Amino acid sequence: MRRIVTGLAGFAMLATVLTGAGTVAAEPPHLPGGPCVQDDQNVSLSSVAGYDDVIRELDRIERTSQGRVEVASAGVSGEGRELYYATVGTGPTTFWLQARIHGNELHSTEAVLQILDHLASGSPDARLIRENLTVVIIPMYNPDGAEANIRQSTTPTRIDLNRDWENFAQPETVAFWKLWRDVAPELALDLHHMGQAPIVEGTNDLNQFQIGARSIDPSRMTAEQWLTNRQMAMASVEALDRYGLANVAHYPLIDITNAGLSRMLMGGTAPAGEQPVMQTPTKGAIFYEVRSVGQKSNGQLENLFRIPTMAVLRAAADGSLAQQDVSGYEDLPFASQGQCGRF
Ligand SMILES: [Zn+2]
Repeated sequence: MRRIVTGLAGFAMLATVLTGAGTVAAEPPHLPGGPCVQDDQNVSLSSVAGYDDVIRELDRIERTSQGRVEVASAGVSGEGRELYYATVGTGPTTFWLQARIHGNELHSTEAVLQILDHLASGSPDARLIRENLTVVIIPMYNPDGAEANIRQSTTPTRIDLNRDWENFAQPETVAFWKLWRDVAPELALDLHHMGQAPIVEGTNDLNQFQIGARSIDPSRMTAEQWLTNRQMAMASVEALDRYGLANVAHYPLIDITNAGLSRMLMGGTAPAGEQPVMQTPTKGAIFYEVRSVGQKSNGQLENLFRIPTMAVLRAAADGSLAQQDVSGYEDLPFASQGQCGRF
């Protein structure tokens, strides 16, 4: 049985795991066996959640949630796998949380399963979020790519699903676009790994986390969207800063209109036979890029997803997100690319 750390156990482990992370961050990145995944490294997937684990874990959480969690399928993948998602909470604001649109970006799946498990629990924190938000969690957006351990989809075409919200070539994109239209999320968060281990510009610190507040140029967003994105970003960064080890940087300034988040913000596209959503419900949509080191430090990597995600969920639930100060956003450093830059 592959390891799935359950929510409460996982949260209790945070302090220990995070203390350990500082050690890894201090390793010189050029050492063989350091934080870079080597070309010849056999990255074991035996401890990473696969598709069957997702099914099993969703089923367990739903069964033990006392009706708080509902699992459904948005459709089927190119290879015929169900595209599972879970809904938890009954609040007026819908929050979209997706993981593993890129099949070989491993640890986001387990992180969101841990978050789901926690949100299903009786803790006051979870109750606050459930009362104020309806959280839609997609633990494995690209199950075919995940099972093949590749970035893209596999069938009928092998393409990057995060570049398919204009062409809708893949059944996964069509299914999740329809789900997005139907659940109308106000906020969205998309979890990724970066395929390299850069250094925070001007330092010797290994950059562990990049914040992606703009998948498109801010000029394509409304003022409200750009503010909300920066508020989500700074709530994330401040949560990581409280643990003092993430060495956060900006994600490079991209402007990619066919990415999922971009089209959630912009609207205007639809699969064949569907009406485009012209008035998008989505006010904020950002992404995380967590460093990627194979199987060496799964717990740390999951925490790098889970800590900021929980912070944004809490801030959205208790209303503090709307008051989040964004003045520090422009001062966030960028990263120097290429330490492990074969991707
Ligand atoms: Zn990715």
